[in-house]
Amino acid sequence: MQFNPHLDNITLYEGGKPIELIMREYGIAAKDIIKLASNENPFGVSPKVVDTLQENAKNVFMYPDDSMFEIKDTLSKKFGITSDNLIIGAGSDQVIFFAINAKAEYESKILTAKTTFAMYEIYARQIGAKILKTPSDQHVLSEFLALYEANKDTAIIFLCLPNNPLGECLKRENVYEFLSKIDHNTLVVIDGAYQDFAAAKDPAMQINPKDLIEQFPNTLYLGTFSKSYALGGLRIGYGIAQPNIMQALYKLRPPFNVTSLSLKAALAALEDESFVTRTLENNFKEMRKYENFAKENKIDFINSYTNFITLLLSDDYSSKEIAQILLKKGIIIRDLTSYGINGIRVTIGTPAQNDRFLEEFQKII
Ligand SMILES: *Cc1c(COP(=O)(O)O)cnc(C)c1O
Repeated sequence: MQFNPHLDNITLYEGGKPIELIMREYGIAAKDIIKLASNENPFGVSPKVVDTLQENAKNVFMYPDDSMFEIKDTLSKKFGITSDNLIIGAGSDQVIFFAINAKAEYESKILTAKTTFAMYEIYARQIGAKILKTPSDQHVLSEFLALYEANKDTAIIFLCLPNNPLGECLKRENVYEFLSKIDHNTLVVIDGAYQDFAAAKDPAMQINPKDLIEQFPNTLYLGTFSKSYALGGLRIGYGIAQPNIMQALYKLRPPFNVTSLSLKAALAALEDESFVTRTLENNFKEMRKYENFAKENKIDFINSYTNFITLLLSDDYSSKEIAQILLKKGIIIRDLTSYGINGIRVTIGTPAQNDRFLEEFQKII
């Protein structure tokens, strides 16, 4: 059978290995497995979210409110925007899909950093769009600008701020200066999946969506409930842009794309601010352990504005092998070999999880 020929160029997205798989493959008990591979919240989910899910479980026979009034209303107030500026997706992942399909087509140009969130490229390839990547792994705005100047017909530029899987971020001031040089017909997507982490570490990195879309009407800001809000399993995220962009994105949205429980859980998660505060505090306190460890052991790392840290290994080690050895001990981390990088990305866990990872990692190196 013949399929869409663009699909031949797609390598499947490789998610973090699930705990169940490690239990089956290596016979390790669930309690002895730690997953630091998917940038999930190490504190699990807010108890308020669990209560909400229980209360609303009895209503799942009904379709969700497809206008998504409550969540849009709450997010509008949080960001000082209106509902016309919002779209809710099954994860911000789905909003990336909407954006690519709304703005790009066969042979459109899409600009990204060399090493960034894999879904930009995967969705772009599905429609046969061309991916242009900067020479450097991390985001370097001068490289983006040079590529853009040589390709003024670029449909979309993706800036992942902070960047997954490397962790670097850019100052708002520099991002804004860059945006001022981009033509109004190029959509610039600012993926803010880790923005609350960046803002907590250094306010100069913080991008305020309202301010962004007012100053630069050709931008789309993305946020998610999967990271600091700990709702990865419920698949809910959002996009913020001017209404003309939204109208295009809505043409791609399937009806009832977000479940009723996800919508309720997101509201509850937004209410539990202390849960997020605790998450952010633990994150940067614990990240110091990794940084100190790396310095003591002369391992390079990228200064991270996220809930993970990327360690770059010397040629003496293979990140693939290290990931494999750790896996057999029940520690799941992310090997970056598929990105062409001899390094590992480790999600910052609870203090106990981090200590155990560092202890085992020390034994290997
Ligand atoms: C996690 C993540 C997302 C989206 O996650 P969803 O679970 O689909 O909301 C988007 N971009 C980046 C860079 C991410 O790391």
